[in-house]
Formats: sequence, C-alpha cells, structure tokens
Amino acid sequence: MIIVMRPNVADAELEGVTALISALALSAHVSRGAERTIVGVIGAPADKETLLAQFAQLDGVESVVPISKSYKLVSREARAERTVVRVRDGISFGGRTLAVCAGPCSVESREQLETTAAAVSRAGANVLRGGAFKPRTSPYAFQGLGEEGLKFLREAADRAGIAVVTEVLDPRDVELVARYTDVLQIGARNMQNFTLLREVGGARRPVLLKRGIAATIDEWLMAAEYVFVAGNHDIVLCERGIRSYDPSTRNLLDLAAVPLVQGLTHLPVIVDPSHGTGVRALVAPMSLAAVAGGADGLIVEVHPNPAAAFSDGPQSLTLPNFAELMERLAPVAAAVGRALPEPATAAA
Ligand code: PEP
Ligand code: MN
Repeated sequence: MIIVMRPNVADAELEGVTALISALALSAHVSRGAERTIVGVIGAPADKETLLAQFAQLDGVESVVPISKSYKLVSREARAERTVVRVRDGISFGGRTLAVCAGPCSVESREQLETTAAAVSRAGANVLRGGAFKPRTSPYAFQGLGEEGLKFLREAADRAGIAVVTEVLDPRDVELVARYTDVLQIGARNMQNFTLLREVGGARRPVLLKRGIAATIDEWLMAAEYVFVAGNHDIVLCERGIRSYDPSTRNLLDLAAVPLVQGLTHLPVIVDPSHGTGVRALVAPMSLAAVAGGADGLIVEVHPNPAAAFSDGPQSLTLPNFAELMERLAPVAAAVGRALPEPATAAA
C-alpha cells in the first residue's frame, strides 16, 4: 500500500507514519517529491483492512491506497488523475497540448544544431533533441561531442525559444548533463541500469524514460518506479519499438502499448517513430497513428542533410519533411482533443 501525505507535511507527522510502519515490522520507502511526500509500505500485513484504517487516521495523512501491482507509486491506483510533467513555462508533457521533440540523432556541430533548432521550432516543435553522449553498438562509431555538444544544444534551443532533451549515459554525468538540459533522457539500452535510474531519481530535471529494447511493460514501469521512489516524480515514458524477429523494420513499434500503459500508470507516454521503425518513410504515418491513438507527444529525428548524418540518417526526416508532418498532424491532434504546441518566440 502507499500512504499519500498532505502537501507541506511536518517532519513529526511523517515520523508518526514511519514509526507505525516499523512497529508493525513492515518497511517504509519514503519518496519526497517537489509537491508531495509519498510513503510506500513494503511487506505483507496480516490484516490489510485494519491497517488501512490505522494509517488513514494518523496526522498528516491524506490518503491510503492499497496497490495490487508490482509497481506502486507510478500506478494508476496510486493516482487516478493523469500527471502533467512541466518542463518550463508553456512546455509540458501530458496536458492537452502535445509535446513535440525534434532534432538530430547526434549533435554534430554548432551549425547543424542552429539550423535544425530554427527550422523545427518554426514548424512547431517545442523541445530540441540531440545526443551529446551516444550509446553506440560499435565502440568505433561516433560516440558524441560530450560537453561541447551539450553547449551547442543549449545555445541553439535558447535562441529558438524551445527546451532541450538529451541522453545521459553514465551516472557520473548526471550533474553535468542536468546543467545544460531541461529533460534527462534514459535510453533504451539503459532502461534497467538501476544505478543510473537512482541517480536521475535524485536530479531536479524531468526524466524521459525509453522502453528497453526487449522490455516488457511491467519491466518498463518498474524502471519508472525506481526513478519515482528515488524522489523524482517528473517522468515521461517513451515507446520506441521493441526487438522482433522481422528485420524489415529496425524495431517493432508497439503502438498498443500507449493506451495500455496509460491505463496502468498516471505518467505521460510519448512515441519515438524514428527508432521505432528505422525507416524514414514510416516516420510520418506512425507519428499520425501515435497521436490518433492518444500519445502525449512525439520524439522525432530530423537532420538538415540525412545522407551526411553521423548516425541514424536513414530514419531521419529532412527539415521540409518535418514541417509537412506537423501540418498533417494538426487535424489529427484536433480530432482527438489535443493541440500542437504554439510556435515559440525565438530570441533576438
Ligand atoms: C536516441 O534517442 O538517440 C536513442 C539512442 O534512442 P534509443 O535509446 O531509443 O535507442
Ligand atoms: Mn538515433
């Protein structure tokens, strides 16, 4: 079960709750978020009904929720309303307005980012994506520009008036990456890097958690639980395709996972049709399908010259491809009661 404390709960009230948990030989997982403190009660109490009533009457307790799932704090049972993850003024994941993240797979140069950021923000994207630390299958492939790449991202996004999402690969780099980015991306290959999950759980930046290459829905939500229980409640899930037997597409984009997961968790869910298919021609149709199916946003790879991209050129949209996609997306979003972001006001 979980115990939701009232906002601004006093230390003594929290101690009252944890003391009762210890007295009952159960263990407590206290998760202090920016808005509220939540206590997870772990163990198998003999009489659940009596226990629920006992906790509900303690000072500072707002509600006590029995949870049947293995993941607790991220479950719909813990919170019936959908979470809106606020990135900064006017930019959020999970509200009526979709979040649209666009940009290259890898940060390659200042010029590449300036050109891309200006074009994607003009077309209506509200978050610039790009990897400065790249998880590559081959150790000989381009590994990213590191901190220099983070600077290019920040500068280009600020000039375009949009936010930044970028991947952090290593727990030792969380602080560095968080200095430059608005959203910390955990890549598919790291979905079960529990040390990294705990580390971003302590960061004061929203986390974009991609589904692992062969992860079940349950494993994905348990990974989100790691971040949540470590104190970071601003988590966005991203379906990016899973490994299948068929090499016709790079991955098998599991669009059914979007409404499925939205029924299991209160967290927002976005879709990555670029890694989800690996095929440029499939990116626009799958983006439209994702939004029609209720996704809270998209993350799309866009490059000024995909043929020359350091990574993932074959799945990258050109700048005009992306602008066209955004135009086609608007009526689909409207049909399901959502809106595209308002175009950003670029800095002078
Ligand atoms: C990426 O978004 O650049 C990336 C590497 O994606 P994934 O972790 O989904 O493969
Ligand atoms: Mn990529």
